[in-house]
Amino acid sequence: MSLFSQIEFFTTANDLKSLPRDGWEVAFAGRSNAGKSSAINTLANRTRLAYVSKTPGRTQHINYFNLGNDRFLVDLPGYGYAQVPEDVRAHWEKLLARYLQTRDSLIGLVLIMDSRHPLKPLDVQMLDWFAPTGRPVHVLLTKSDKLTKQEASKTLAEVRRGLEPWPHCTVQLFSSLKKQGVADVETTLRGWFEA
Ligand code: GDP
Repeated sequence: MSLFSQIEFFTTANDLKSLPRDGWEVAFAGRSNAGKSSAINTLANRTRLAYVSKTPGRTQHINYFNLGNDRFLVDLPGYGYAQVPEDVRAHWEKLLARYLQTRDSLIGLVLIMDSRHPLKPLDVQMLDWFAPTGRPVHVLLTKSDKLTKQEASKTLAEVRRGLEPWPHCTVQLFSSLKKQGVADVETTLRGWFEA
């Protein structure tokens, strides 16, 4: 049975005090428009579980999805959208930092990057915030359907090399459009939950 076959929306939080107390969670983070909502929908095999935006940077909530057996998938607000007012941006960056640094029930981070624009400064910031926890990060290079096979394997190798400074990082190609890479994500997340 798929890890995501029972997935359902659980709750929305606007601050760290309102997060669920029990269970274990895997968080999805990424720059606005990187393809995070599409990836969650593709993994869940649903069209509209997470909101796919035409206007990136709008969803500034932490959304919890229940996977069953005290396991949660956490959809973090997208970062790096230029049109967001400075004070809002600062608030959410602080919240993301505190969440990644202090959330005990967070067992791993899935970091979504557009395969054409990987490892931007804010992605590096996320890796730096989370690294001290010693917990694993899995990078999804999304929209891989937009690259040729050759470009995709070159990007994969480059990002793998770029991630060397951070331990416990893995990376794969992913396409929501072509539904490529789904099984590999599931295997990684299952490993985290079963560890
Ligand atoms: P989010 O802001 O990170 O949640 O990104 P979305 O999931 O809303 O996707 C942003 C845009 O990229 C949308 O127009 C999606 O249709 C498009 N997109 C997302 N994933 C893919 C993919 O795998 N392939 C292609 N070609 N487009 C994608």
